Amino acid sequence: MEAADDGTGGRPEIDRGRLRDLLHGSLPEGTVRWGAKVTGARPLGDGRHEVTLADGGSFTTDLLVGADGAWSRNRPLLSAAQPAYTGVSFVEVDLFDADVRHPVSAEVVGGGMLFALGAGRGFLAHRESDGNLHVYAALEAAEEWLDGIDFSDTEAAKAAVLTHFADWEKSLRALVADADGDLVPRRIHALPTGHRWDRVPGVTLLGDAAHLMSPFAGEGANLALLDGAELGLAIAAHPGDVEAALAAYEERMFPRSEWSAAPSALSGAMLLRADAPQGLVDQFAAHG
Ligand SMILES: Cc1cc2nc3c(=O)[nH]c(=O)nc-3n(C[C@H](O)[C@H](O)[C@H](O)COP(=O)(O)OP(=O)(O)OC[C@H]3O[C@@H](n4cnc5c(N)ncnc54)[C@H](O)[C@@H]3O)c2cc1C
Repeated sequence: MEAADDGTGGRPEIDRGRLRDLLHGSLPEGTVRWGAKVTGARPLGDGRHEVTLADGGSFTTDLLVGADGAWSRNRPLLSAAQPAYTGVSFVEVDLFDADVRHPVSAEVVGGGMLFALGAGRGFLAHRESDGNLHVYAALEAAEEWLDGIDFSDTEAAKAAVLTHFADWEKSLRALVADADGDLVPRRIHALPTGHRWDRVPGVTLLGDAAHLMSPFAGEGANLALLDGAELGLAIAAHPGDVEAALAAYEERMFPRSEWSAAPSALSGAMLLRADAPQGLVDQFAAHG
């Protein structure tokens, strides 16, 4: 499917590293304290919290925002929910400088995104703006599947992944066989769709900490950014009243993330279903 940019900026694309540099570069020097790994947080009463760090340090705060991703150390302050394995595992690989070093793979992936799908497995690949190809080999597999692969032995790991694509076309298998660098295993986890909590003074969550979902709808980073922006606006709109700001933020964030999590889960199931790639073909056809 080819969808031309309509110029409205409605579906912008940017490489993750460039976005991170852009955002980080806009902050005053010293705003980020690198290497400050949070080990836990506990309520002190009156909406204040003490946050402890792996280096033995700690600090107290009257507004704690857990933006610490899937395995958030702050989430337990609000909710007992834990991410659950979705039944899908990814192995992530890169092919560097593809036009020069991997011209066949560059051609296969093309200028945008490639989905090569079968029942319970597939390759999801895209070209990054630096000319590298980024590929996920996806497999419906037991949670322990990745534990049985020795990722320190790259060639053996490639062979183990490709066993599941034995009868696939050579140019698709090459996306893994010819990969550069290490293979990265990723189990895909998600929080329950519609995850929410009762208001707890002085603390909230955003992004994956609040609503980890499978990546198939490609919305997780978008939601995290929007959460952050809306939380900032809510705090600015309620000067001196953190509780009103957090309540206003959560009131919008909960339904928004539920609205994305449900189709994201369905999308994952659809992509890899028994008659794959028919589900995706139908979806593209519906887009016209
Ligand atoms: C394979 C895969 C592909 C994806 N593809 C897409 C896509 O195409 N589009 C999209 O929108 N989303 C995608 N996502 C989802 C996206 O990556 C996440 O939704 C997004 O990164 C969430 O941002 P976040 O800031 O909430 O969490 P994170 O990006 O996880 O950031 C959390 C931060 O907290 C830090 N941290 C964690 N624990 C601690 C601690 N104890 N102490 C201190 N710091 C800590 C981490 O180092 C990290 O910097 C994908 C996810 C996966 C797994």
